[in-house]
Amino acid sequence: MTIPSQINMTGVGVQIAWDDGQTCTYPYRYLRLQCACAACVEEMTGRALLNVSAVPEDVIAVEYIEVGKYALQFLWTDGHGTGIYPFKMLLKLAENDDAVICETS
Ligand SMILES: [Zn+2]
Repeated sequence: MTIPSQINMTGVGVQIAWDDGQTCTYPYRYLRLQCACAACVEEMTGRALLNVSAVPEDVIAVEYIEVGKYALQFLWTDGHGTGIYPFKMLLKLAENDDAVICETS
């Protein structure tokens, strides 16, 4: 399984160096809007509950914690902090979404 070897909060986003050799930058607000916690996405239906316009343009992550060996949790400047971002999800975003900038070293 691919896991982060290093995580940095940069000026533009969360930068994750994965142990497969690619380093990906996830813009803060973009990542905030991907939150899939029960307050942001309705569990049964998958309906989005998050009011996107209520998330400040300049929201950033101030802190992260590692959740077990499979996910990251971020604390955002808009006060939100319940979202869990599994590594699998972060890797999928890196692969499928142009908002995430990856470089291979
Ligand atoms: Zn959330």
